[in-house]
Amino acid sequence: MNLKLKDLFYEFRNPDTIKALSAAIADEAKQLEKPLYIMEVCGGHTHIIMKYGLPKLLPDNIRFVHGPGCPVCIMPKERIDQAIALAKMDNTILLTLGDMIRVPGSKSSLANERANGYDIRALYSPLDAIKIAEENPDKKVIFFAIGFETTTPMTAVVIEQTVKKNVKNLYFHINHVIVVPPMRAVMEGKSKINAFIAPGHVSIITGSKIFISLAWKYKTPIVISGFEPIDIMRSVLMIVDQKNKRQSDVEIQYSRAVAAEGNHRAQELINRYMQLRENFRWRGIGNIPGSALQIMDKYSYLDAEKLFADILPNKPAEDDKLCICGEILRGIKEPTDCKVFGNVCVPNTPMGSCMVSSEGACNAYYRYRGV
Ligand code: SF4
Repeated sequence: MNLKLKDLFYEFRNPDTIKALSAAIADEAKQLEKPLYIMEVCGGHTHIIMKYGLPKLLPDNIRFVHGPGCPVCIMPKERIDQAIALAKMDNTILLTLGDMIRVPGSKSSLANERANGYDIRALYSPLDAIKIAEENPDKKVIFFAIGFETTTPMTAVVIEQTVKKNVKNLYFHINHVIVVPPMRAVMEGKSKINAFIAPGHVSIITGSKIFISLAWKYKTPIVISGFEPIDIMRSVLMIVDQKNKRQSDVEIQYSRAVAAEGNHRAQELINRYMQLRENFRWRGIGNIPGSALQIMDKYSYLDAEKLFADILPNKPAEDDKLCICGEILRGIKEPTDCKVFGNVCVPNTPMGSCMVSSEGACNAYYRYRGV
C-alpha cells in the first residue's frame, strides 16, 4: 500500500476522531426524548459496525438494529430451489455471484449440487457470463442474477451485450430487489425503528431522492452513509441532531460519492431492460409488492423463469423452524437471540442465510461480537 492510500484509510479510521464523535454523540443524545433505534439497512454497514465495535461507542439510549439489505440473506428458499432445478437441466451451466452458492435452499444448496457434479460457477464479474456463453455454444448458460440497485446496472449491461452481440444461449433468472419497499415493510411491522442509516452504494445509483417519501411519511430521519467507521459515527451524530431538532429529512453524509439525483446513465440502463415485478417473496418478510425487478417483456426470450417455467418449483418453502433470520431482517430480534447461533449454525455450516454472507447479521456477530 502506498503512503497516500494508507493515510486516506487512517483519516477514515482515526481512533481519536472516532472517540471525539462518540463523545459528541453521547453529549447530544442527552437531549433525546426517546431511545433511538437506528436501522442500518445495508449488510455492508452491519459488517463495519460489528468489525469496529461501534455499538460499544454509543450511549445506552442509542441502538443499532440490523436490516434487510443483504441480497443473499433475503433470498427465499424457493428461488434457490429454482436455481438448482435450472442447474440440473441437461447441458446447462448455472452462473451466480459469490456467497449465493452456499445459501441453503429447501433441500440442498448450489454448493452441494456443484459437489454432485453439476456445472455451477461463481462469477467474479457479471460480464464474464457473455464470455462463458460464447465459449460454450452447445450449452444453455443461465445467469442467476442477484442484488440491490448497486449490482442491477451490471446485469442490465450483460443483457444489453447479449442482445447486441446476438448471443443465443445466455438466459437470465432475475432476482434484483429494490431497497425502499422492505424499509417501508419494516416501518409497518413490529420493530421499534425510528431512524435509518441508508445504503451508500445503492444511493450512488438511485440518488437520495428515493428515500424522501419514507422519511416524511414515518417521520424518520434518514442519513445516507459511507462505509468507514467515521462515516457511520458521523451519520449517527447527524441523526441525533435531526431528532433533537424534530426533523425528518434525508441527508447525505456520503457526499463524496452520492448526489440527490444519482447516476442517470445507470438508471436509464436498468429501465431499458428491466421492469417492476408485481410480487416477490422476501425471506422472513413475505411478499412485498413492487419490491423486485424482472426482464422487460420485450426481452422475455431471455427470461429463464418464463422459458423453463415448467421445471421450476414455485411453492413457497418455509425456513427452518429454529432459524429466526426473518425476525432479524425485520429488526425485531438479534442474532444472539437465536438458540443455534454459534453452536449448530456457524459460517462453515450455516443453517440460515444470515450466517452465509459476510454482510449477514449472524455472520458479522459471529466474527466480530468480541471486538
Ligand atoms: S444463527 Fe443461523 S439459524 Fe440462527 S438466525 Fe442466524 S442464520 Fe438463522
